[in-house]
Amino acid sequence: MKKRHLIQAIVFLLSLGILSFVILIGKKSIHNICPYAVICFGLLKGNIFSLTLQVAGLGIVLGLVFMVISLFWGRIFCGYICPLGTFQEGLYALFGKKAARQIPYFYERRFSKLKYWILTGTIILVITGLSWIYINFCPFYALSRLPSLAIGGLITFVIIIIGSILLPRFWCRFLCPYAALLNLSQKLGELFGLPRRKIQRNLERCTDCGLCVRNCPMNLDILAEEYVQSLDCIHCLKCLAACPKPGTISEQRNS
Ligand code: SF4
Ligand code: SF4
Repeated sequence: MKKRHLIQAIVFLLSLGILSFVILIGKKSIHNICPYAVICFGLLKGNIFSLTLQVAGLGIVLGLVFMVISLFWGRIFCGYICPLGTFQEGLYALFGKKAARQIPYFYERRFSKLKYWILTGTIILVITGLSWIYINFCPFYALSRLPSLAIGGLITFVIIIIGSILLPRFWCRFLCPYAALLNLSQKLGELFGLPRRKIQRNLERCTDCGLCVRNCPMNLDILAEEYVQSLDCIHCLKCLAACPKPGTISEQRNS
């Protein structure tokens, strides 16, 4: 088992354990420890130093920590830690291989902007005191409320399941607002000239066979440049594993 898969398995099982505990005690919801709490609760007026830190402190701290890490290592959180990312990978591995088709880059780039709109929408709703509107569509909230039915969140969860069987990492590519936040954090790092780990392709060794591209779950155009500049790279290294010429693809610091 690869190191990444081991980390994913540990975090996923831990998350399942926490979720089961939360359902059993039936009071709190798991979204209090989600890194997106940095938006859901972190932006609540007057709460960041008081109530929020007691109720959702861990989520906010995790959210901020992974944003800082993303300055230097991009969306490593998505590739290694996020249980929803692991869940999607599992679904795709089990059911998606034959059914799945990647979409043209033209549409990929346009649809991937959706997550920034969702991020903007949630920020506006929190600031205006209407966060309950989107929290009702949060899949983690819905799961942690079981056996009560939070219909909106369960609908989102079904969309994620169907989407990630059809397209690998469907949620991460198009809809996840925390992914959008991590991308903005990376962009900020770029503006300040911070070097970040990126996938590099050795142009002299590469034969342009395209196997790396076909195996990239984020549908990135790896062959466009020497370094994968896209903020959407989750550092899963599936491109490296798929490449038939060892040593052609590696991970390097690059500004
Ligand atoms: S396959 Fe390579 S380029 Fe694609 S997301 Fe994974 S590490 Fe990034
Ligand atoms: S799989 Fe390797 S050899 Fe083929 S295009 Fe990608 S980097 Fe080049």
